[in-house]
Amino acid sequence: MIFTNPAGAPELACDACGCRWFDRMNGTCYECGTPVAPEAQEEFRLAVEAYVAARRTAQVCAGASTA
Ligand SMILES: [Zn+2]
Repeated sequence: MIFTNPAGAPELACDACGCRWFDRMNGTCYECGTPVAPEAQEEFRLAVEAYVAARRTAQVCAGASTA
């Protein structure tokens, strides 16, 4: 599952236990060892891209309004 942290950035969390710590070397949850599905990793990657794009757009808009 994917959480959004208070800063608005996406965070990948374990589907089984909800913890957000992953062993990135093995692609498994630190807490319960559940493998992170490739679909979940892809979904998270897309969420990060959308977040970065949204931030970039916001910064451009902020810059335009002050100029
Ligand atoms: Zn887990």
